[in-house]
Amino acid sequence: MLISTPSEILETIIGTSIDKPQSILPDKSTKKIHEWLKNDHQFFLLDPLSTIPLRQRTRYVDNHVFKHPKIIKMKVAVAKGDGIGPEIMEAVINVFNAAKVPLEYQFVDMGKWVFDKGFSNGMTPEAKATIEELGLLFKGPMETPKGKGVKSVNVTARKTWNTYANDRHFQTLSGVDTVFSKAGIPIDLTIVRENIEDTYGGIEHMLTQDVALGRRFITRPGSEQVIRYAFEMAKKKGAKRITCGHKANIMKLTDGLFLEVFKEVAKEYPALKADDVIVDDLCMKLVSRPDLFDVIVLTNLQGDIVSDLCAGLVGGLGFAPSANIGDHISIFEAVHGTAPDIAGKNIANPTSLLLSGLSMLRHLGLMEQAIMIENALLFTLESGVHTGDFGNKLIPSVNTTVFAHAIIDNFGKQPAHNPKPLLPNFYVTPTNFKLEHNPMLQSDLNDKHKIVGVDFFIESNEQPQVIANKCTSITSDALKLITITNRGTQVWPSGSIFTNLVNQYYCRFETVNDLPLSQDDVVALYGALSKEFKICSLEILNMWADKKAYSLAQGQ
Ligand code: NAD
Repeated sequence: MLISTPSEILETIIGTSIDKPQSILPDKSTKKIHEWLKNDHQFFLLDPLSTIPLRQRTRYVDNHVFKHPKIIKMKVAVAKGDGIGPEIMEAVINVFNAAKVPLEYQFVDMGKWVFDKGFSNGMTPEAKATIEELGLLFKGPMETPKGKGVKSVNVTARKTWNTYANDRHFQTLSGVDTVFSKAGIPIDLTIVRENIEDTYGGIEHMLTQDVALGRRFITRPGSEQVIRYAFEMAKKKGAKRITCGHKANIMKLTDGLFLEVFKEVAKEYPALKADDVIVDDLCMKLVSRPDLFDVIVLTNLQGDIVSDLCAGLVGGLGFAPSANIGDHISIFEAVHGTAPDIAGKNIANPTSLLLSGLSMLRHLGLMEQAIMIENALLFTLESGVHTGDFGNKLIPSVNTTVFAHAIIDNFGKQPAHNPKPLLPNFYVTPTNFKLEHNPMLQSDLNDKHKIVGVDFFIESNEQPQVIANKCTSITSDALKLITITNRGTQVWPSGSIFTNLVNQYYCRFETVNDLPLSQDDVVALYGALSKEFKICSLEILNMWADKKAYSLAQGQ
C-alpha cells in the first residue's frame, strides 16, 4: 500500500487511528515508533502527481501527531534568497499560513551573503545538514557573486542532491495576457527536464589555446530515472500524450540513447500516446500550437531552453513554477532571478514562487490546501489585481503585500476559467530507505565488449596529408589510420578544400576486421604517436555485441 489516510498511517504503524484522542493511544505506540527509527524506517508523503517519495522522518509522527493528533505537520527548509527573495517568500508564507497549510518552516542560510562570508558553495554547513535531514527545500532566487570563481548555489543544490527531474508546469492564467490567451488557445503543459547530466556536467577542456572541448554525458540509468518520472507524472495527471524532445538525428549516441530509453519505458504505459519530436521542430510547434502538447521530456540543455520558451508562452518567468524532484531531496523554487532593480521596494510579483510552493504542497499530498490557494490565485488574477510587472495598465498595480492579501481574501472562490477540481489530501506510508547500494551503478547489459580503436586528439597546424603521413608511419597491417577530422568534419582521406581548419585534429585508428586491442596496445600507440604530435586527449573506440559504440566523422 503506497498511499493512505492519516488514520491508516497510524494504524499501519501503531495499530490505532489518528482520529482517536491522544489519551487512548496505547503505550506501546511510542516504543514501536522508536523501533522504526532504530531500523531507519522513514516516512514518505506521496504526491498523487508524482511517484517520487519524499523523505520525512517518523520523528514527525512523534513530534506532531502525538501532540496534535488531528494534524501531521511537516518541516520544510526555507531559504528566502537574495534581492526580492525575502519579500516574495514572506508573501507566500503569509498565504500558506492563512490557508492553514500544515507546514513548519525551518529557515536556512543560503545565497549571496553566505558566499560573502566565505562559504564557497553558497550555503552554511548547518543549512546543508538541515536540508539533508528534512529532504525538502523551498527557496527564493539567489545571486551568485560574479567573477569570484564560485559556482551557482542553485546549480550546486540541484546537482549535489540529485534532483534529477525538473518539472515545470505552464498554464494559461486569466488576467495574464499573452498572444495565446488573446487568441483563445489554452495552454496546459508540463516540461520535464533532465537535471543532472548533459553538458551541465561542466566537463570542459581547452585542447589547444584556440580549441575548447565540452563533454556531454547521457547515461542509461540517468535517462531512465527522469523518463520514468515523466511517465508516472503524466499518468497521474491524466495526460493523454507524452512527447520526447531530442536531437537524435545529429547526436545519434547521446540523444539516441535518451530516445531509446524513452521508447523502452513507453511500452510500459500503453494508455499514454508516446511520441517524439526533433527539438527544433518542437520549438516551432510549441510557438504555433502549444495546446497540442501535454507532457514533454527532454535532456538537460534542450529542456532548459524549451522550458523558458514555454514560460514565454504563458506570460514570462514570473508565472513559471519549478520543482526539482529527487528521490531523497526535492527543491521548489522561483525560476526568475533576484530582480536587484526592484529589491526592497515590496513591488515584486510573488506568483512564480507561490506556484512553486503549490507544486511543493501537491508533492506533499496537500491537495486541499494547494487547490484552494490556486483557485484563489486564479480568481485574483482574473479579477484584474496585478503587480506592476504585468496586467492591465488601466488598473493601478498593487504591491506584493496587497497582492498576497487579495489572494487570501479570495480563498474559497472559483475562477471562471480553468478552476482546479477539488481533491482530497493524500498521505504516506513508511518506506525503508537505504543508500548503501546505488542501483544506478548496476547495469543489466552484459554484452561482450572489446576495444577496436582509438581517436587521438592532437594539436597541429600542419595540413591533413602531412599529419596522415606521420600517422601511417606508426600503423601496421592490423591497425589502420581510418580518418582525420577537423572540428568533426573529415579532412582525410577525402575532404574539401573549402573546409576551414583549426589547429586541432582527431586521428582515428581502427583495427582490421574489428580485432580486439588491449589497453596496453592503446598505451603503446599513445607513446608512438606522442613522438610526432602533442596529444591533447584520446577516446577509446568500443564495441558492444558487434555494435560500434562511436559516431562516424561528418563526411566519413
Ligand atoms: P531577473 O529575473 O532577476 O530580472 C530580470 C527582470 O525581470 C528585471 O527587470 C526584474 O525586475 C524583473 N523581475 C524578475 N522577477 C520579478 C518578479 N518576481 N516580479 C517583478 N519583476 C521581476 O534576472 P537577472 O537580472 O538576469 O538576474 C539577477 C540576479 O538573479 C543574478 O545575480 C542572477 O544570477 C540571479 N538569478 C537567480 C536565479 C535563481 O535563483 N533561480 C535565476 C536567475 C537569475
